[in-house]
Amino acid sequence: MNWMEKELADMTDASLMRSLRVNSLVLECPGYTVRGERLLLNLSSNDYLGLSQHPVIVEVMRETLLSEGVGSGASRLVTGNRAPYGRLEEALAGWQNCEAALVFANGYMANSGVISALVSRGDVVFSDQLNHASIVDGTILSRAELARYRHNDMEHLRFLLNKYRDKRRKLIVTDAVFSMDGDQAPLCELALLKREYEAMLMVDEAHSGGIYGRRGEGLCHELGVQDEVDVHMGTFSKSFGVYGAYVCGSRTLIRWLINKARPLIYSTALPPSLVAGISKALDMVQTEHWRRERLHEAIRLFRSSLNEAGFDVGNGDSPIVPIIIGDNDTAIRFSGALEEEGIASVAIRPPTVPAGTARIRFSLSAVHSNKELIDAAERIRTVGLQQGVL
Ligand code: PMP
Repeated sequence: MNWMEKELADMTDASLMRSLRVNSLVLECPGYTVRGERLLLNLSSNDYLGLSQHPVIVEVMRETLLSEGVGSGASRLVTGNRAPYGRLEEALAGWQNCEAALVFANGYMANSGVISALVSRGDVVFSDQLNHASIVDGTILSRAELARYRHNDMEHLRFLLNKYRDKRRKLIVTDAVFSMDGDQAPLCELALLKREYEAMLMVDEAHSGGIYGRRGEGLCHELGVQDEVDVHMGTFSKSFGVYGAYVCGSRTLIRWLINKARPLIYSTALPPSLVAGISKALDMVQTEHWRRERLHEAIRLFRSSLNEAGFDVGNGDSPIVPIIIGDNDTAIRFSGALEEEGIASVAIRPPTVPAGTARIRFSLSAVHSNKELIDAAERIRTVGLQQGVL
């Protein structure tokens, strides 16, 4: 095992070492995290709508825990398919206006399971260069050819669609909002290309579910292209504040996945209490519009404050706001200095992002107040000047 020590030392030298840090909660302070002794404004969580500590969801989970026990005991195809699953899937299909839905243990397993069930040898997956790792891993697992197109570059995608015209099945897959850049995929153009080339289209709404659409359905609904999308996928770990993931689509798709998606077949069902908690969160995502409105107000304020401070954060409208720094070491120092200023942030480095584009990725929540965000932007400006990034 000596090779490991050496490679870890090389990673440390290149400022690429990662380690686990404890972050604790203070229930009375949503939007903050405690590291060591310090209370820090948490600008690095995906709890976009502020539901992760909601007392009503906690209570529903507690009640289900008492009536159903702590674990489901088996995979859903054995004896783990308890009543809360069916109720949730019916509600999900109604929410997405699809025929059927299927819950997965998490987004990683949903993406890897769905892609490897839809395509195999002799097929091709057209995947945006900045898609999430679980999409890349699902494609590798499927043994289909991976045709990566340049980020949001529809001309390059068209070139690849022509190149692989003769492949058996074709799947175009994209994040709706990209997790490290916060920009959106051109879903309308993708829908047109999918039709023209008779491909399947899969959209990952991990960072757009709950945030866009009248009832938080996601970006596909916001843009009116939902009926062109064959596979809607999203997670419950971000806007929903809980854990797990969904896939929505036709009844045929869901029947296929129940029979072919290996992470669903060969893994234990989520605990019923969690599934009941997700159902409650789904009610809130659909009906508590003020959370979405508050989040969008926070996004506009924070983005414009950083732009005014001199950072280039583009003109997107998602809660993911990156400051691209470039080299790994400066990004780590930047995040360390922000921590000194009372802000929890993470330096995102390769391989999560391309080499030379290390960044601080801020993410906002509906629980952050205007004052907290304006103060934070001011402190970020101070650190930017100190670190020579501005
Ligand atoms: N897709 C995207 C775009 C993501 O950002 C993530 C998680 N960061 C996932 C899928 C995986 O979801 P989960 O955390 O539920 O496994």
